[in-house]
Amino acid sequence: TPFDLVRFSEEITEELQLVAKQNQSIIYQHTGTASVVALDQNLLRHSVTNLIANAIKYSGENTFIEFCTEIGPSGCVITIRDNGIGIPEADQKHLFEAFFRAHNTGNIPGTGLGLNIVARYVGLMNGQVIFKSNVNQGTLFTMTFPTT
Ligand code: ATP
Ligand code: MG
Repeated sequence: TPFDLVRFSEEITEELQLVAKQNQSIIYQHTGTASVVALDQNLLRHSVTNLIANAIKYSGENTFIEFCTEIGPSGCVITIRDNGIGIPEADQKHLFEAFFRAHNTGNIPGTGLGLNIVARYVGLMNGQVIFKSNVNQGTLFTMTFPTT
């Protein structure tokens, strides 16, 4: 069932803001005139929630997390950007493998399953997920879905 991506995203932002760290602000922004998408709402909710939860977990206090959605002629693009610890270059090729954790996670807890699930869910929605990251600078995840 098609749904309103902006309302959906605003709800997720509100929910996750409650579990963010001190002074971590999740900033949501939508681009485009359309706002309805025909994607699986549950798969998308889990995917977005996982990526924002990672952004919260792997960045410090007093930072911004940018959550953007865009609906254009070529489809729907969803990005989540943080200014956190980043992912070491050598670890990047393993990031979507089950139970993989990068070497700079220190004592931050996790099982290494979240991104593996995100990759599978995005695939089920015929989308793609990619990322760009620099250690101690931050990480940008981009999910792209074709218009149906
Ligand atoms: P969980 O299964 O609870 O999500 P996790 O967060 O360790 O545990 P993933 O979400 O799959 O597992 O992420 C895998 C690894 O990728 C993380 O352990 C971390 O090393 C790295 N990672 C993921 N997102 C980020 C991010 N936003 N910034 C820095 N590192 C990240
Ligand atoms: Mg995670």
